[in-house]
Amino acid sequence: MSFESLGLRAELLRAVSEAGYNSPTPIQKQAIPAVLEGRDLMGGAQTGTGKTAGFTLPLLHRLMDSSKPQGKRPIRALVLTPTRELAAQVAESVSTYGKHLPLKSGVIFGGVSINPQIKQLRNGIDILVATPGRLLDHISQNTINLSKIEILVLDEADRMLDMGFIRDIRKVLALVPEKKQTLLFSATFSDEIKKLSAGLLRDPVLIEVARRNTASERVTQVVHPVDKKRKRELLSLLIGSHNWQQVLVFTRTKHGANRLSEQLNTDGITSAAIHGNKSQGARTRALADFKSGKIRVLVATDIAARGLDIDQLPHVVNYELPNVAEDYIHRIGRTGRAGNEGEAMSLVCVDELKLLKDIEHLIKRDIPKVAFEGFEPDPSIKAEPIQNGRGGRQQGHKNNNRNRSQGGQSRSSQSRGNQSRNSSNNRSRNRRADAA
Ligand code: AMP
Repeated sequence: MSFESLGLRAELLRAVSEAGYNSPTPIQKQAIPAVLEGRDLMGGAQTGTGKTAGFTLPLLHRLMDSSKPQGKRPIRALVLTPTRELAAQVAESVSTYGKHLPLKSGVIFGGVSINPQIKQLRNGIDILVATPGRLLDHISQNTINLSKIEILVLDEADRMLDMGFIRDIRKVLALVPEKKQTLLFSATFSDEIKKLSAGLLRDPVLIEVARRNTASERVTQVVHPVDKKRKRELLSLLIGSHNWQQVLVFTRTKHGANRLSEQLNTDGITSAAIHGNKSQGARTRALADFKSGKIRVLVATDIAARGLDIDQLPHVVNYELPNVAEDYIHRIGRTGRAGNEGEAMSLVCVDELKLLKDIEHLIKRDIPKVAFEGFEPDPSIKAEPIQNGRGGRQQGHKNNNRNRSQGGQSRSSQSRGNQSRNSSNNRSRNRRADAA
């Protein structure tokens, strides 16, 4: 199947061809005709499947088809994303695919001055990409009008709910017209997502490109069992001995990301950290340096890494496993994108064996374990509770993987009571601080 046969406008076909795409990806084949027909859509897709073009191309086509209102351009399409980086990336895609069309797009997110955004909104834009927090700031300052929205896209909706954005999303939904086309994308489907979509989508087309909760087949996965205190040494050795030039490394905490990045620099491996406590400028710079090859290693926390699209990223290392098993799929989805091969390596210490089990249960397969010679774990070391953040909450060994089908709380959540609720709230707060 070709892009031409999907019925997209010539200007879009030109942009797609200039982007170097030969044929639509599976999600694009299914989503583009459905969106062009004006249908609501619920899309389940792995990261890196080309879903951004899957919704952006038909969205631009439809905006060109619908009558252009007189006077100042009202915002006619709104794309909500959970993180600043993803917002910036989607906005870039909108510009790329729409470059031959007379439509204007803009992006707003937190962590940067609001004034240029106000000016941009005042000048009028057709398509707005936004994170929920900053969008609500604009709404409260009356600098935005959502009453002419024709198409609403919720990208990575699962993550927006996970980050505690549900109330913000509901506030936004109350301000957009009831009659509109709604597209919802989510890598994983929880009951919460189904509940949200039931109230939001009208007779949606359901598209699920990959099986639910599966990791990309193109990513080779391996676990290196290693003692916690020897992880850094092993990481430096892996990077050095393989001469890896571009590695995305995940840690669980912001402090851990900073410390590891500093240590790698000391080892002579150029590195930068990216997380929610960094200024937006520092985040953008770190990402640009990583993409351009100025630094070899980008050490990231989960939130900051959401939606990062780095062309042909060959290596992802889980320096620490995530507390939430689904994050593992998102992390390793940073490699093996758009048809390329990728390699995901996890350095796992005895404390993390339960997290590893949760992940293997979720992806329904065992990840090969390969002890690295000279780094075999010391069997006398006993598991300790996992520390999350400086002096912060301890993660117990049971139920680390929240069961999202029960509203983000694990099965034994009732018995854990307030403590669990507080930590869950803290997690949402931390994640929101990273994003909006
Ligand atoms: P996404 O899943 O939207 O983040 O896209 C992942 C990557 O795939 C991006 O780098 C896109 O530029 C690329 N991409 C999207 N559609 C295609 C296509 N049809 N052919 C080749 N690459 C694509």
